[in-house]
Amino acid sequence: MNNLVVAKFGGSSLANAEQFRKVKSIVLDDKRRRYVVPSAPGKRCKDDYKITDLFYLCHAHVQHKISFDDVFKIIEERYKEIVKELELSIDIDAHLKEVRKQISQGASADYTASRGEYLNGLILADFLNYDFIDAADIILFDKYGCFDSEATKKAVSSKLGHIEKAVIPGFYGAMPDGNIKTFSRGGSDISGAIVARDTEAGLYENWTDVSGFLMADPRIVDNPKPIERITYNELRELAYMGATVLHEEAIFPAREGGIPINIKNTNAPQDKGTIIMDNLEGEENLGTITGIAGRKDFTVIAIEKAFMNAEIGFGRRILSVLEAYGVSFEHMPSGIDTLSIVIDDSQLDHKLDKILEEIKRQCNPDSIHVIPSMALIATVGRGMAKTVGTSQKIFSALAKNDINIRMIDQGSSEINIIIGVETKDFEKAIQAIYKAF
Ligand code: ADP
Ligand code: ASP
Ligand code: MG
Repeated sequence: MNNLVVAKFGGSSLANAEQFRKVKSIVLDDKRRRYVVPSAPGKRCKDDYKITDLFYLCHAHVQHKISFDDVFKIIEERYKEIVKELELSIDIDAHLKEVRKQISQGASADYTASRGEYLNGLILADFLNYDFIDAADIILFDKYGCFDSEATKKAVSSKLGHIEKAVIPGFYGAMPDGNIKTFSRGGSDISGAIVARDTEAGLYENWTDVSGFLMADPRIVDNPKPIERITYNELRELAYMGATVLHEEAIFPAREGGIPINIKNTNAPQDKGTIIMDNLEGEENLGTITGIAGRKDFTVIAIEKAFMNAEIGFGRRILSVLEAYGVSFEHMPSGIDTLSIVIDDSQLDHKLDKILEEIKRQCNPDSIHVIPSMALIATVGRGMAKTVGTSQKIFSALAKNDINIRMIDQGSSEINIIIGVETKDFEKAIQAIYKAF
């Protein structure tokens, strides 16, 4: 561990020339900020386009043999405007021409989408006067497309070891045959965490458009309180459940390297932001929670059978049906005679009827019914395990607001209580829980 800082800047932090200037002043303000990981330009305002979305759109046009000229023009204009306003000498036209050629010749979706970060990285490197290191040379995937941690570690230390200051585009890397592979959406957060781990950074800064992790999604709750300190575990639970500030997988490399993450606001760099780290013992905030997050679009399969508890292999048979259909599940709360399986709708994809039939055939339940459009809400807090009455507080807040709880689940870590409500009650439920704490 040394005192170097890896700074990742999200899409809104690099959406136009004005944002680039803010980024430059942040980077130059602290000499330790030696490695910078940019996203592609994001939205400049609410109704704007994200460059990554436009690149995916270009790829879809080519797939359907429709001209992508109009979409590409919007992309070109964004980059050209940034370069022009910053008065940079980089030959962005030549880079755009090459990218355009590759897309027109049928480049993969991953290659196409990755160009958002690639081009932005070239521009930022020029603007900061940092070296440009292509992520394809250091972030490595195996031939199956899985992230190759060991190979990446080696590549990072051999390539970056003797480079004082570099810009490394986020979101993508390469497979052994050189083909570009991206992480899932929002994946620049993961790239930054990997670079931080493999350069043994002392801090991973994640610069975005909010002053840290807030107790709830600011689009649902007005002015939620910021979270000053949070553990990796709490953050993982919140991020997985929809608090999208940081990609949920970005936590693993940071934790592995023991590197604290600081979420900071590019538009208000003086704000402290949120620190994510382990070892917050003694800071349990008894009686309070750390945050609330939630996601919509789940289906619950509720199964009832008398003496289910005594029937050997019942749970296994149910899960083997899901396995046979290639479906994963999120939660499985159970009682003596009942068992519910909570599944993300995106997993089901027209398979539900067949799955129900198969469960009936193999498990012969007394009843089986489906609750569609459920929303899950996670109330997370490391102080919860040591406090009585947290769930009571959640339930009475929901009851007071006439919200029907359809499911309750508490993970064994005891830092998370998950409740299922109908989608129509989603926002109202989050607001009610927030207010209660
Ligand atoms: P970036 O482009 O910098 O990666 P993201 O859009 O991925 O930024 O993440 C920041 C956004 O996450 C915020 O603008 C906010 O709308 C949203 N968000 C959702 N939940 C939360 C939360 N609990 N705290 C703060 N922001 C949240
Ligand atoms: N640009 C990519 C996306 O929009 C990755 C990122 O922003 O982290 O998903
Ligand atoms: Mg993001």
